[in-house]
Amino acid sequence: MKYNPADKIQDLQYFGEFGGVNPSISDSSTYTFLSAKTMFDTFEGNAEGCYLYSRHSSPSNLYLGEALAAMEATEAATVTASGMGAITPVIFQLCNAGDHIVSSRTIYGGTYAFMKNFLPKLDITTSFVNITKLEEIEAAITSKTKILYCETLSNPLLEVANIPALAELAKKYNVKLVVDNTFSPLSITPSILGADIVIHSLTKFINGSSDTVGGVICGSKDFINELRNVNDGACMLLGSTMDSFRSASILKNLRTLHIRMQKHSENALYLAEKFQELGLKTVYPGLTSHRGNSLFASMMNDEYGFGGMLTIDVGSLEKANTLMELMQERNLGYLAVSLGFYKTLFSAPGTSTSSEIPEEEQQEMGLSDGLIRFSIGLDNHIDRTFLQMKNCMEEVGVLKPTLA
Ligand SMILES: *Cc1c(COP(=O)(O)O)cnc(C)c1O
Repeated sequence: MKYNPADKIQDLQYFGEFGGVNPSISDSSTYTFLSAKTMFDTFEGNAEGCYLYSRHSSPSNLYLGEALAAMEATEAATVTASGMGAITPVIFQLCNAGDHIVSSRTIYGGTYAFMKNFLPKLDITTSFVNITKLEEIEAAITSKTKILYCETLSNPLLEVANIPALAELAKKYNVKLVVDNTFSPLSITPSILGADIVIHSLTKFINGSSDTVGGVICGSKDFINELRNVNDGACMLLGSTMDSFRSASILKNLRTLHIRMQKHSENALYLAEKFQELGLKTVYPGLTSHRGNSLFASMMNDEYGFGGMLTIDVGSLEKANTLMELMQERNLGYLAVSLGFYKTLFSAPGTSTSSEIPEEEQQEMGLSDGLIRFSIGLDNHIDRTFLQMKNCMEEVGVLKPTLA
């Protein structure tokens, strides 16, 4: 039997301070010590289980971190105030001035912008590669390379990264494989496939209610402790700390993630198959027409499916925009960035979440103008939603009207 991340989360049992069924929220920024000696030891990192100050750690954040480490099969995890607040400290912790990163070119727009525009100021450079071309990746690695960076399922093109092969490369050249697993929680467990560090934006599927931003870094106990080190830890010193109220609410939502992912995946597969049947250019990793379909299947855990993200190409930005506006008007979803919500969300990545990527580069990577990215919601009857979407597509001329 493969690793079952949802079972690992389920096996965690927490009680609240007064026997409550949810762990108590730690409503404090600072913590008392019974002796001055213990305070000193805690600063030195020698007093396990003692809380010092909530930017370092808090009981609520540790609960959520523990649950996410269990989900990702890593020794430890630390939560952060946002997904970018998880990605940036990992890079700062692993790279010094003069170092180099090899990254997939199809990554989250914010991560791309950070690597492309911000890191050069600190003399950290990035080579962007096609993550499906292992020779290209290997050729880009230099003696200065510290990180091989990718997303399990890339944004927005839904390319599948061959994590076992990338892990082998990372080992060979002694670099860290860092994987952003935001698009495929539960479905794929990158650490089991050889990733050193796994990152999530909790803002998306994991929290699932689009009411907060959040992030997590999952990795070895040593690395997570390094990030929190009071003297040189990037999480501790950059200060992107999650609030305890938020970690408590995200932990409650995490408890239903398996049910939600199953429904997201079921609904997305249904729509992807139907869209494809209608002749729309559809990209979904669960379709056998997807180039990464069998690779995804070889890496996935049972039960959670191929995820909730799909794209269609409707030919032009104008058509994409009118279709999205009409679908929103008909209450089939929201024209909004982000993903993992209970309602369907759609956007045109070229002009939104990937707009940080220059137009020529967008073209080169196959990100076309008419592309619509869908995060499929938890609709109770997806067949009903499909018929309504099909009507919209006929009305705006994306599909030829069928005679009823
Ligand atoms: C949204 C997202 C991020 C950034 O997360 P925030 O919580 O918005 O900071 C990083 N990676 C991926 C794949 C994302 O979708």
